[in-house]
Amino acid sequence: MILEVSHINTFYGMSHILHDVSLQVDKGETVCLLGRNGAGKTTTFRSIMGLTPPRSGSIRFKGVEIVGKRPFQIARLGVGFVPEDRRIYSDLTVLENLKVAQRKPRNSQEEWTIEKIFEVFPKLQQLQARRGLHLSGGEQQMLTIARTLMGNPDLLLLDEPSEGLAPLIVKMLGELIQRIKQEGVTVLLAEQNSKFAMKLSDRGYVIDDGRIRYHGSIQELSENEEIKRRYLAV
Ligand code: ATP
Repeated sequence: MILEVSHINTFYGMSHILHDVSLQVDKGETVCLLGRNGAGKTTTFRSIMGLTPPRSGSIRFKGVEIVGKRPFQIARLGVGFVPEDRRIYSDLTVLENLKVAQRKPRNSQEEWTIEKIFEVFPKLQQLQARRGLHLSGGEQQMLTIARTLMGNPDLLLLDEPSEGLAPLIVKMLGELIQRIKQEGVTVLLAEQNSKFAMKLSDRGYVIDDGRIRYHGSIQELSENEEIKRRYLAV
C-alpha cells in the first residue's frame, strides 16, 4: 500500500471539516475521490500534503507516518500535488516551467525527462517557447500536471483537473491521464465530474459533508443508483 489515510479529522479553525476519513491507495492504482462542491475533497488533499494537517488520525505514505511533516518534506518523499488553481509561472515559457520543476527520482523508477514529457504531451512540445501567460486553460492544466511529473512523484494527487475545461479538452485530459497511468504512476483523483473520473479509475470513494459515504470498485459504484443519486448528482 502506497498511501494509507486512517481516521483523520481536519479543521479550519473551529470548523470540523473532515470526520474520521479513511482511504487507501495501492501502488499502480488509480483511485478517485468523488463528491460535490464543498464535500471535502480539497481538504483531504490539503491534509495529505501537510498544508492543513489533521488534528487526529494517521497518514502513512510508503509506510512512513507523514502527519506532522511539512509540505515540502512530504513532496520530497514523493507526493506530487496538482492543486485546483493551476500554479505555473506565467512569465516563464513552457520549457522553463518544466525545467525548474525537475527533481531526481528517489528510487530506480524510470525518470521523467523533458523528452519523455514531450512524448506523452506532444502539445507541450509545440508550445515549448510560449509563456505561461499565453496558454489556454486546458494547456495550463496539462503544463501543471507535466511539471508535477518532472518531480518524479510516486503518487500523483490531481485535484479536479477537469474543472472549467470544455468537453473536448476534458476528453483529451482523460486520454492524457490514461497515458500517465500506463507509465506506472499511481494516481488519486478528486472530481465532481464522476463520469469522467470513473472512466479512469480502478476504485472509488464517495465523500459528502466531510465523511466517506461509500467505497468500492467502479463497477459496483456505477451500479449503485442510490449512492449516485444521493451524493453525486448523476
Ligand atoms: P470544491 O470543489 O469546492 O473544492 P471540495 O470537495 O474540495 O469542494 P473543500 O474545499 O475541501 O471541498 O471544502 C470542504 C468544506 O470546508 C466546505 O464546507 C468549505 O466551505 C470549507 N472550507 C474550505 N476552505 C476553508 C477555509 N479556509 N476556512 C473555512 N472553511 C473552509
